[in-house]
Amino acid sequence: MESVGEVRHTVAEVLERLVGQMSHYRPDSDLGRFNRARGAQWVNLPVEMFHVLDTALSVALETEGAFDPTLGHLVNSWGFGPNGPTGTPPDAQAVLDGLFRRGWSRLLLDPARGRAWQPGGVSVDFSSIAKGFAVDQVARVLDDFGIANFLVEIGGELRSRGVKSGGHPWWVAIEQPPDCEGFPEVVVALCGQAVATSGDYRRYFMHDGVRYSHTIDPRTGKPVRGDLASVTVIHDQCILADAYSTALLVLGEAAGHLFAEKRQLPALFIARDGNGFRHSCTRAFQDMLD
Ligand code: AMP
Ligand code: MG
Repeated sequence: MESVGEVRHTVAEVLERLVGQMSHYRPDSDLGRFNRARGAQWVNLPVEMFHVLDTALSVALETEGAFDPTLGHLVNSWGFGPNGPTGTPPDAQAVLDGLFRRGWSRLLLDPARGRAWQPGGVSVDFSSIAKGFAVDQVARVLDDFGIANFLVEIGGELRSRGVKSGGHPWWVAIEQPPDCEGFPEVVVALCGQAVATSGDYRRYFMHDGVRYSHTIDPRTGKPVRGDLASVTVIHDQCILADAYSTALLVLGEAAGHLFAEKRQLPALFIARDGNGFRHSCTRAFQDMLD
């Protein structure tokens, strides 16, 4: 039988490894190395980072670029990256520059040799997907130790296995925007699935009465507008719940619903409506409530 200390130690080791690979904030991470690579070249990647990039590029393709892991320069210009907050919108030139430098479709993967093509100057940012992947990896460690019942959470993204003590399912209250009080809690029973929420209230700044949130619309180079305050997605893999929740927030209410319904994805949308909020969800999400 494993000791709690042994499990804790292995989990800490895995998390440290992932941060060392994929942190946007650590210049010495493998991601930092990829982003700083001078000129066009192949860059060798650790296995886990290769997988995250591969998944991110698949979601980018599937969402026609609404999800884009190459917005690093724009994210920084808007004050949501490693350079820290700016508190004001960047000038038009900086936005244009960021738009030119993004480009998920210019990255290539060479699975046989575990390397990725850096076309030069592209800044990869995994902030919308790496937390979900980390949750999956911690769940995997617990599985490997033979632990049958757990709920793993990192920064609001969760993954479950088995049941709670007493044989009850893992009832999870879905995160709601902070100013949403009064709205009934939405609670789902997770049976082995993961849940992730993306919201415009998580990181944002106000300027001239406008809310600028950390989710960037790659078509405009600016924070998403539209009514959505948050999107929650449930999926077997937390990496995909995380990526899809960000993607649906960018797609917006109408296109996001269509995308999720087509894939039978359980998704909950919370939109700002006058001074209040309105909720809507896909059929697959509704089925989880019944
Ligand atoms: P999340 O909280 O998972 O929705 O991730 C938000 C973070 O992802 C932001 O802080 C940015 O670093 C990054 N990001 C912003 N816009 C996008 C986008 N359109 N696609 C992918 N990542 C993005
Ligand atoms: Mg995300």
